[in-house]
Amino acid sequence: MKCPFCGYIDSRVIDSRDVNDTIRRRRQCLGCALRFTTYERVQTSNIIIIKKDKRREEYNREKLTTGIRKACEKRPLPTGAIEKLVDDVENELHSLGKAEIPSSVVGEIVMEKLKECDHIAYIRFASVYRDFADITSLKHEVDTLIADKDVASQLPLIPQEGVRVSGRRKRAGPSKRLL
Ligand SMILES: [Zn+2]
Repeated sequence: MKCPFCGYIDSRVIDSRDVNDTIRRRRQCLGCALRFTTYERVQTSNIIIIKKDKRREEYNREKLTTGIRKACEKRPLPTGAIEKLVDDVENELHSLGKAEIPSSVVGEIVMEKLKECDHIAYIRFASVYRDFADITSLKHEVDTLIADKDVASQLPLIPQEGVRVSGRRKRAGPSKRLL
């Protein structure tokens, strides 16, 4: 396994963990000492994706990653979050144990995962994927999200520097905040 930073061909394993059907290995490059992660899994036959128009194509990780990356653009996600999300999606696809999977199933799995990590990215992905017919169906989706009780635990849309415990802002200043 070549080091992604310097290309050196040898590394040592510093941690090894089983994640579903995958072995996650934390490695340290013996050349530059930087650390990286590899995933190892049993080779399952390549999954075929059945598209909406019934055409079939081989599952393509790059393509999926690009779609998710677009939805997550400029969102404050931690480094590696997208790769991990794609790994999770793949694990779930493999666990279905099917040779052919409709693209709609892939889309639903992605949305489910995005919903857990970033609501804005979720809405962006859903708006492309579900192809909301109009603003009403988009609003409906957003309303459903807001009604969801875990919405408060999400990454803020705007940095929350203005939020304070109530009662502490007695000064009537010009800094009226829109919240
Ligand atoms: Zn290296």
